[in-house]
Amino acid sequence: MDVIVAADRIGLVKARRTLGVGGFPKDATLALVPTMGALHEGHRSLIRLARERADHVVVSVFVNPLQFGPDEDFSRYPRTFEVDLEICAAEGVSLVFAPSAGDMYPPDRQVGVSAGKMGTIVEGAFRPGHLDGVLTVVLKLFNLVQPDVAVFGQKDAQQLAMIRRMVADLDLPVSIVGAPTIREADGLALSSRNRYLSTHDRHMALALSRALFTGAGRRTPEEIRRAARAVLEGEPEIALDYLVLVDPATFAEVGEDYRGEAVLAVAARVGSTRLIDNVTVDLR
Ligand code: AMP
Repeated sequence: MDVIVAADRIGLVKARRTLGVGGFPKDATLALVPTMGALHEGHRSLIRLARERADHVVVSVFVNPLQFGPDEDFSRYPRTFEVDLEICAAEGVSLVFAPSAGDMYPPDRQVGVSAGKMGTIVEGAFRPGHLDGVLTVVLKLFNLVQPDVAVFGQKDAQQLAMIRRMVADLDLPVSIVGAPTIREADGLALSSRNRYLSTHDRHMALALSRALFTGAGRRTPEEIRRAARAVLEGEPEIALDYLVLVDPATFAEVGEDYRGEAVLAVAARVGSTRLIDNVTVDLR
């Protein structure tokens, strides 16, 4: 079956009907993969996971203005819709929802989601309002698409944690699936923003994953932080925003006596490109 493209919210309602979802009793199940487009192998892996979980996969392609700060890259964010559609067709996606910003956010809009205190730490400290913007668009997408399952990448670990928090705190009837980070052979985490990188910057950017893997090879929180930081300090062209070792559910820094899985997360600017990455470490 060809991919159905819904370019606005009304189109989406019609497309859901075409797919035979939302009837009662419910017949077909839906999995949602929210994206900002410029699809790469990481997005493809999310789509494949989604296909295992439901009868139909819906991919949303929406560069969400609400989650960009005034000095961020909203206007230059890569937009490659025709190629994205080809990728979705090749991956067996049933429906692509690609609304305009005007359709999603009418000018009289007032109400949004607050990410709370957790939205102000780590990534939220460097991108004020970012996680509020993410949760607002994700809640809208959940309400519009009404998926049974939604798949998000561990690459954006705090975003994933906050979405799980929103689902729990607001009793949303959707299952959240986290998907592992897909990397280039040399360790660089795939990102739509990697296409901003010059050859030189791309080489520099490898220090991020190298720092994470070096840290993850150590045993205690202090050793992990110190080893990862030492790698980044050896790279004067990397402008570090943060390097943290946190509880994956709360994003609070873990202490020396912490036991369980922790996330070693980094954000840094390489040239004019801001990159984030993380790995999970097991602190037994
Ligand atoms: P984005 O289009 O960057 O907003 O990302 C859409 C979804 O793809 C999010 O859930 C991301 O966490 C996920 N994602 C981005 N990069 C990767 C990657 N390298 N591996 C796996 N998932 C990813």
